[in-house]
Amino acid sequence: MTPEQFRRHGHEVVDWIADYWTRIGTFPVRSQVSPGDVRASLPAAAPEHGEGFDAILADLDRVVLPGVTHWQHPGFFGYFPANTSGPSVLGDLVSAGLGVQGMSWVTSPAATELEQQVMDWLADLLGLPESFRSTGTGGGVVQDSSSGANLVALLAALHRRSGGATVRQGVEPERATVYVSSETHSSMEKAVRIAGLGTDAVRIVEVDGDLGMNPGALAARLERDVARGYRPVLVCATVGTTSTTAVDPLAAIGLICQKHGAWLHVDAAYAGVSAVAPELRELQAGVEWADSYTTDAHKWLLTGFDATLFWVADRAALTGALAILPDYLRNAATDAGAVVDFRDWQIPLGRRFRALKLWFVVRWYGAEGLRAHIRSHVALAQELAGWADADERFDVVAPHPLSLVCLRPRWPEGVDADVATMTLLERLNDGGEVFLTHTTVRREPVLRVAVGSPATTREHVERVWALLTEGHDWLAADFAAQAAE
Ligand code: PLP
Repeated sequence: MTPEQFRRHGHEVVDWIADYWTRIGTFPVRSQVSPGDVRASLPAAAPEHGEGFDAILADLDRVVLPGVTHWQHPGFFGYFPANTSGPSVLGDLVSAGLGVQGMSWVTSPAATELEQQVMDWLADLLGLPESFRSTGTGGGVVQDSSSGANLVALLAALHRRSGGATVRQGVEPERATVYVSSETHSSMEKAVRIAGLGTDAVRIVEVDGDLGMNPGALAARLERDVARGYRPVLVCATVGTTSTTAVDPLAAIGLICQKHGAWLHVDAAYAGVSAVAPELRELQAGVEWADSYTTDAHKWLLTGFDATLFWVADRAALTGALAILPDYLRNAATDAGAVVDFRDWQIPLGRRFRALKLWFVVRWYGAEGLRAHIRSHVALAQELAGWADADERFDVVAPHPLSLVCLRPRWPEGVDADVATMTLLERLNDGGEVFLTHTTVRREPVLRVAVGSPATTREHVERVWALLTEGHDWLAADFAAQAAE
């Protein structure tokens, strides 16, 4: 493709995306294809001869769109959001066009230095501690996912705990312990397995009524383990759990970690970016105790996947665990110790120029625009929770400090509540106007309504509430009729 052809077709693609965003509300939110449908509409073999761009573009509509669940749809209330935005897409386009592989400073100095600067900006915007700034002992880096960030945090913690011995001798699976709660994201357990510790190393600490980790239980668990000769390596505290956005009390947990020399990793994958709004920072009071911190701009900060913001207070622990310098990567800047090489901060060697999209997003919206984005969703979720609180057909089952509301429908006597709740969920999702997911709270299924798509307005939240209440009434009547038969 020549630059001129690229220009022409590039404009067509941008038009296609703009049109998609304009008509996104007309699609059913959840893809309605059956397993195998998408593959069945594709040829069995790759084309022998190149095809015209028109044919490729037409297949986006014919093959791809029917198999897409529309995460940017204003009726998308499932999981956590996966925001994207115009500036994010355009930043990614530039990154793709430059085709830079930024593994070392020398392989493209702008890729490293822009990332350092944007991560320092973002640490400021989120009110994170000074220790995370590149100007001190720490620093920030863009990772591919919070799952990846949880893993590198654990590797850094193992390195520090062993005084560097893990590099030569590996981990001590029979002595190392890692502390989570029942609400911690499963990626932490996965990290433990990948790190070679095995899940016997995981201690699951009890949670309080609000589903946050109980610090007294953590302290007792650590004391017991230390007395038995275990070596506590890392405590993973979550700000905004996946299930209900519960918050582990960082200040109390931080003190306990310090006492035992355990690394405090804060997983704020979804909720962390809410700290752009100063009034929401109270949720992470005590974050200054953290040794590492992860939050995903690709969930709720208008930046397309992948853009995990990861900071460490002591970058030496991270690079100690991950740095490796084969001869072919040696260069004067690295040898002089004058630069940061981000390949030493992550698992893969190669890395994309992801800071570009973050830079575009932060500059386009400004701090003010990012705050407005977060605040609008929080306000909408609080309204929804208010309607549900005032309605005898639903219980709000967990604190909702941000933009996720967990609802448990109430059903008439004699109705199997779990079955009815899951039936309501399927009914709503089959309808195509909205998409919700579920979780389990105190062993009962509940509906999660996560307000977070950039296009969602009050009108869409009113609509999801209307669908929930209408669906509830219809099902309750239906179940009652069945019982009467
Ligand atoms: N941690 C928490 C608290 C999460 O909620 C999630 C995903 O929702 C993750 C980690 C994993 O995030 P990622 O998809 O960036 O790996």
